[in-house]
Amino acid sequence: VHARPESDSLEIIARVLDQSPVDDAVGIGDDAAVIGPELSNGERVVVSTDTLVDGVHFGRAYCSLQDIGWKALVSSLSDLAAMGARPIGATVALTGAMRDDLTDLYEGLRFASRTSACPIVGGDLSSGDQLTITVTVIGQAPNPVVRSGAREGHVVAVTGPLGGSNAGLRLLLDDPLADDRVARRHRRPPIRLVHGALLASVGVSAMIDVSDGLFCDADRLASASGVGLRLDTVPVQDGATLADACTGGEDYELLFTCDRPVFAAIGDLFEGRGLDIPTIVGECTDDASQRDIDGKPFRVAFPDGLGYQHRLG
Ligand SMILES: [Mg+2]
Repeated sequence: VHARPESDSLEIIARVLDQSPVDDAVGIGDDAAVIGPELSNGERVVVSTDTLVDGVHFGRAYCSLQDIGWKALVSSLSDLAAMGARPIGATVALTGAMRDDLTDLYEGLRFASRTSACPIVGGDLSSGDQLTITVTVIGQAPNPVVRSGAREGHVVAVTGPLGGSNAGLRLLLDDPLADDRVARRHRRPPIRLVHGALLASVGVSAMIDVSDGLFCDADRLASASGVGLRLDTVPVQDGATLADACTGGEDYELLFTCDRPVFAAIGDLFEGRGLDIPTIVGECTDDASQRDIDGKPFRVAFPDGLGYQHRLG
């Protein structure tokens, strides 16, 4: 299979579906879709779906079934967080799960469900060769934040240090029983729903979750917004490298843009809630083709094929 950036695949899907735009709904290509009419409380319904495949998104050797259940719900919830939505429910479709696997998988799902106040309301079970979990999450957002609102002069910021998950994966491939901070970060990524809702409430201009690495996801945001990127400060998690932080996947922090007065308000708001204050990693520029870090161009390595694949080194 020829490697193809995800954006090419999305173009094919959008062309074949050939849907006329519905009202002001956000469709294919953002973190989640905004669907249906405005609710009576003025909020919008937001939906996202995500699939994890054994051998592609996780390995049974170093991830327990509980870890896999947790990750499956968290990776979908991360897309709701990036829209500033709160979840109202999730469905889970499982392929290739043995009967004996169900208890552990669903315990992991339950941990994430309780932590995020997102009930699992339905699903489907099917036989198959490969363990595959698809989680669809439904949420509501007072002000859905899309990727396309960044403007020249807005700061680019991230909710936490990056690279821990990729460093953890490297460690786990070497020692499947590793249990230090980065290994745990890979097996049990964080849920940033509270951060996302707060950021949406103060009016950030664009947001995306960091699922495929800083360079890749910052590029997606900048491309959707038609701005350039000048990055200078990348917060690296203890135990990870700068390369992990820039190109590693699955950190599930939130990357957002806003003007400087809004960023100052975010600092106060997060401090008041006892949350770590986000870090400014750079600025949006007027040259839409610019992708610089420390004054040098960076290359975006897109995930191969249709989805994220582990990339090491
Ligand atoms: Mg996303």
